[in-house]
Amino acid sequence: MVIALSYPQKALHKLGLVRDIDLALHIPLRYEDETHITPLRDARDGELLQLEATVTRSQISLGARRQLLVTVNDGSDSCVLRFFTFYASMQKALALGAHLRIRGEIKGGNMGWTMMHPSFQAAGGELPTALTPVYPTVAGLPQAYLRKAVLSGLARADLSDTFAAMASIRSMRWAQWGLREALSFLHQPDSEVSLASLQDRSHPAWQRLKAEELLAQQLSQLQAKRGRAALQAPPLLPPPHAEVEQGLAQRLLTALPFALTAAQRRVSAEIALELARPVPMHRLLQGDVGSGKTVVAALAAALCIDAGWQCALMAPTEILAQQHFSKLVAWLEPLGIRTAWLTGSQKAKDRRAMLTLIASGEAALVVGTHAVIQDKVQFRNLALAIIDEQHRFGVAQRLALRNKMNPSVEPSLAAAGLAREPHLLMMTATPIPRTLAMSYYADLEVSTLDELPPGRTPIVTKLVHDGRRDQVIERIRAQIAQGRQVYWVCPLIEESESLDLANATQTHADLSAALHHPSVPVMVGLLHSRMPPAEKKAVMALFSAGQMQVLVSTTVIEVGVDVPNASLMVVEHAERFGLSQLHQLRGRVGRGAAASACVLLYSTGDAPRLGETARARLKAMAETADGFEIARRDLEIRGPGEFLGARQSGAALLRFADLSTDTALLEWARESAPKMLDQYPELARRHIDRWLGGKAEFLKA
Ligand code: ADP
Ligand code: MG
Repeated sequence: MVIALSYPQKALHKLGLVRDIDLALHIPLRYEDETHITPLRDARDGELLQLEATVTRSQISLGARRQLLVTVNDGSDSCVLRFFTFYASMQKALALGAHLRIRGEIKGGNMGWTMMHPSFQAAGGELPTALTPVYPTVAGLPQAYLRKAVLSGLARADLSDTFAAMASIRSMRWAQWGLREALSFLHQPDSEVSLASLQDRSHPAWQRLKAEELLAQQLSQLQAKRGRAALQAPPLLPPPHAEVEQGLAQRLLTALPFALTAAQRRVSAEIALELARPVPMHRLLQGDVGSGKTVVAALAAALCIDAGWQCALMAPTEILAQQHFSKLVAWLEPLGIRTAWLTGSQKAKDRRAMLTLIASGEAALVVGTHAVIQDKVQFRNLALAIIDEQHRFGVAQRLALRNKMNPSVEPSLAAAGLAREPHLLMMTATPIPRTLAMSYYADLEVSTLDELPPGRTPIVTKLVHDGRRDQVIERIRAQIAQGRQVYWVCPLIEESESLDLANATQTHADLSAALHHPSVPVMVGLLHSRMPPAEKKAVMALFSAGQMQVLVSTTVIEVGVDVPNASLMVVEHAERFGLSQLHQLRGRVGRGAAASACVLLYSTGDAPRLGETARARLKAMAETADGFEIARRDLEIRGPGEFLGARQSGAALLRFADLSTDTALLEWARESAPKMLDQYPELARRHIDRWLGGKAEFLKA
């Protein structure tokens, strides 16, 4: 049966308001106070007010712009109502002598009070006792219709308490508020309430709502985590006869030109312990740029290979994958490990050769881009999947990599329903603020490299106005004279990739000319995302080898590029970048022993100076080198979306709670979720369904 939806009903669906509970949770954007009438004599400039007055004059003015001017008087003063668009019916309702209730923002100049396009109705009639909610809406869905729909959804929805029995709520300030009470209040607050406590969401009714939401999120993540604990993975133990000293990981450590930092040792031990278990690891390795995640990944790969299984490493860009590949090959091939390379740009013949190596198991390690998860790629026995810059991959891509563990190799296990999953190690250089890790990443284990390898000199960050480019170029010359290398990153113009490119090309030409020297040749390279992969590779190779002194690029170098001799980074239009992104960029220098600097060139456009927020953000960059601190500020300024990247497509974003302010509620939810799941599994199921069930249905539709 097909039920035709009326237009407003369709609009409701468009807003995701399908179930009663969805309607009940559609919280007002703001409120209007229509509970009383204010005499004009008490009006204040700019105030939103409601008055009752009589029309004393009505005329159409044909000045610069045609408008309807209506003067009203309420006995205490008069006010002119202005309408730039109006119909005959409006003119009729606003005729001389009409007695009206009028609402709008009042402005008082020397010429007396005026209101632009106020709303109006006949005067008289009862005044509401509650504040009037104004809901987020879409075209074709009038407030009045939406209000009615919300109130009836609220009346019908099952809002029975799911966690009344939980002891942990008793000490909370919002504990007296049941879900139904809280929602009824938020939809129709009495006029006594402080609007500020509703606007800043600190009112106990809001707290209750946020607690519910956070608990649902914690419960669902915990459920996912426990679900995974029931799965099987190959335990990656050293072969029984191996002496510890002869283990591959140990041999790799011995061969490395440096000793691990304490953080690298701790994290590697955490990973080794978990890989040895027969349950799939699901771990996020976070570490600031340059903290040395690659070697940790290599050690995990070594454990896997030593246990007789294959390992795959996937990176989001070809440049990054290429770097991993060269590094891992340099480390592992001398120890007798064969590594395969997969990328979209490679020749069919090369690809086929690689696929054969992978299928036969001859290649114990496979490194590449998205090409690694293509259907054609068949592993012999994949047991560890490593994903670099994990937030650049979608849920589907991570799943695809996990599914590369081919159960057909182990038919007996598959038949017994014991198909196994590979262990998963995800890496990120964008440190995730603690609250974010506790909420969106609660289903993962997190390891943190909180220490940089020794011998790094701190990077000095300077804010420089674009008008002083010449000085910056002078500085570049000085660096080159000392045999150092320089990055110049061009602006990010989100709307237009071709503008980005034009700008980078121009800058490249300008710098080439400015740095030209008759006797000392200086090579200035250009790198951007539209270049054919082979060309990119060639440019990167020249820069890595130190033959190219200056690299002008769009943000393609953002992640992972490692050239220790580069000691100066210039970021053009720094004000357009996110903080975490700037931090990542800056991390491209300061990788060697030389003193390094980062120049953030900013432009104020036509304005005399940089805006307040932009200035504060750039100052934060100059003040701190701590990626976590920067991430925390970024979360405050821009919300969680930026951090979650592709991950948010899989997880519903929090609608009510705010991770930068609701830390206490988040702590409460995190502690309560396991207790609730253990003690009241049925209530927990209902709670999750109430809060997240609609999202799932919505996605299916
Ligand atoms: P990231 O965490 O940003 O991926 P990398 O793994 O690229 O960092 O490491 C940055 C640089 O530091 C590389 O040149 C790497 O070889 C080097 N490195 C890693 N660990 C150490 C260490 N313990 N001591 C000295 N250098 C190290
Ligand atoms: Mg890296």
